[in-house]
Amino acid sequence: MSDVKVTLPDGSSRAVSAGTPVGDIAAAISPGLAKAAYAAVVDGALVDLSYPLQKDSAVRIVTDKSPEALPLLRHSTAHLMAAAVTHLFPGAQCGIGPATDEGFFYDFIVDRPFVPEDLETIETKMRELAQQDLPYQRQMWPREEAKAFFTSRGEPLKVQLIDEKTAGQKEVSCYTIKDRDTFVDFCVGPHVPSTNKLKAFKLLSTSNAYWKGDARNAPMQRIYGTAFPSDKDLKAYLAQIEEAKKRDHRKLGRELELFTFHQWAPGAAFWLSKGTTLYNILANYMREVLFPAGYVEVKTPLLFNKELWETSGHWSHYQQNMFTVESSDGEQMAIKAMNCPGHMLVFGSQGRSYRELPLRLHEQTPLHRNEASGVLSGLTRVRQFSQDDAHCFVMQEQIGEEVERLLGLVQRVYADFGLPYAAKLSTRPEQFLGEKATWDSAEAQLKGALERAGQAYTINEGDGAFYGPKIDFDVTDALGRKWQCATIQLDYQMPARFKLTYVGADNAEHQPVVIHRAIFGSFERFIAILIEHFAGAFPLWLAPVQAIVLPISDRHRDYATRVRDALAAAGLRVELDDRQEKIGYKIREAQLQKVPYMLVTGDREAAEGTVSVRGRSVGDLGAQSIDAFVAAAKDEIGRKEAGFGLKAQGSSHEEVA
Ligand SMILES: [Zn+2]
Ligand SMILES: [Zn+2]
Repeated sequence: MSDVKVTLPDGSSRAVSAGTPVGDIAAAISPGLAKAAYAAVVDGALVDLSYPLQKDSAVRIVTDKSPEALPLLRHSTAHLMAAAVTHLFPGAQCGIGPATDEGFFYDFIVDRPFVPEDLETIETKMRELAQQDLPYQRQMWPREEAKAFFTSRGEPLKVQLIDEKTAGQKEVSCYTIKDRDTFVDFCVGPHVPSTNKLKAFKLLSTSNAYWKGDARNAPMQRIYGTAFPSDKDLKAYLAQIEEAKKRDHRKLGRELELFTFHQWAPGAAFWLSKGTTLYNILANYMREVLFPAGYVEVKTPLLFNKELWETSGHWSHYQQNMFTVESSDGEQMAIKAMNCPGHMLVFGSQGRSYRELPLRLHEQTPLHRNEASGVLSGLTRVRQFSQDDAHCFVMQEQIGEEVERLLGLVQRVYADFGLPYAAKLSTRPEQFLGEKATWDSAEAQLKGALERAGQAYTINEGDGAFYGPKIDFDVTDALGRKWQCATIQLDYQMPARFKLTYVGADNAEHQPVVIHRAIFGSFERFIAILIEHFAGAFPLWLAPVQAIVLPISDRHRDYATRVRDALAAAGLRVELDDRQEKIGYKIREAQLQKVPYMLVTGDREAAEGTVSVRGRSVGDLGAQSIDAFVAAAKDEIGRKEAGFGLKAQGSSHEEVA
């Protein structure tokens, strides 16, 4: 048998006979590496350890320290879970089971929804299988034979996947765990070599799902789980989940009386008074950021004739995501799911000159998307929402400068909220519209803008939309979770579809480029992120109630009312708790409501014209004159500080202790 040459990452090489499984290389290097090996990368491709080396290759062994390890481990655990489910629920049909950023899931068609006790049973079965050290084995089956096999087992979804994913292939890859009776799945792989690599996993939750995420398809049950190389990592992650549960915006939204939902308006929040205040703070903050930057605000209709959506292309590509209605005279209409087409009409509503560009239209009106009720969740998956949306109409040569200005806005906004973030540039995909030269110019301008703005970024090669490149921003919250918020998206197609032109300096007609951009993304989602990031304890400038006046007894009510009125007149958001409750009780309640400042008023305060200030997080801050408190609070608001705010001064109030 002939030899093949294997080159290792350190540059060394060795000869092995052709057909040697790549896993044997790990064993030849060291028993420790063989034990730690999950898989291998051969000439850049991630493969199983059983992969036979047929030609000279560059080989790297993947262990739990490798960047490929976590998704591989998690996807392999998804198979283990599916093996347990099909064992415990005979007749269960498997859908897909990918790794995710947080773990993995697998979708099943089962007779009844899973309940929490099922997760325990499934997890126990998984541990049993894991301990048996069962091999994952890759087998190449003739395509028709594989289809016949899954048909005979009553797994039409797998047959459908084979049809869709392997057209033209003679053979398809199937994986068993131990043998076909234990578990078999159509999958491209790769996986860990054996179930004994799976030691630290946990099943977390179930949810409703649909085959391929489409509500018109079969309803499925999804099980979420996670897996890590070590128990220590798993424990740290589970602790983070516990913290996330405490911060869950749906829970805090109810406790802090920010918003509520009703089954008669699925996916549409009822913003209660405090939530509306928070919403308006953000809406007005964004106006304060955008107006000086040259944006103008518009309000366009919510309901448009289908001709608008046909022109924009949404009628053929996006109709199922929109709510459609018919007018009394038979006109077919749709409620807007985005502002862009309306803004195209605003641009085209009058003759435009290059002198008006960039023209920046900002809009915050409500949008609706026809999401299946089963996937709705709190403020993060909704049917009704608003965006801090804007469309900048620019000349091709203005793209770079406009994007640079936009990056400046993004940097400023996230700094104000204390949210770290990362930028990624997505470039021309394989399927794209327009000229390659135009794309090259646009991408070069985006890169130039990122560099001039001092903005670090990564590149997602080929991940742009078919109509233009884009820059996306992920913010990281206090728990280290990433959320995609801001986006800057170049678009050459929509202005063409709407036949938009401006008269250039050369007196000829030109087509503008549109930049779709949002910084918060949707207000709803951004508020959810803020609630969880701050655990509901908003910094003073965002707090719906900034201070609450707490009279110690009924005889201090008049003075407390005067304090409340003075603060309100100074522009602070202030409440008065004049219930006949003990002061300690009122303080605890205000504390639970996470009000930044509690102002206790008793005999001494009334006599001296002061308030005894308690900070939400720092406790007693002593007595201050009303004017001094207002000035300090305004200073803290102005600094948009996310920390402790006012510092202790003066003497403390004995009655409060
Ligand atoms: Zn797989
Ligand atoms: Zn848009």
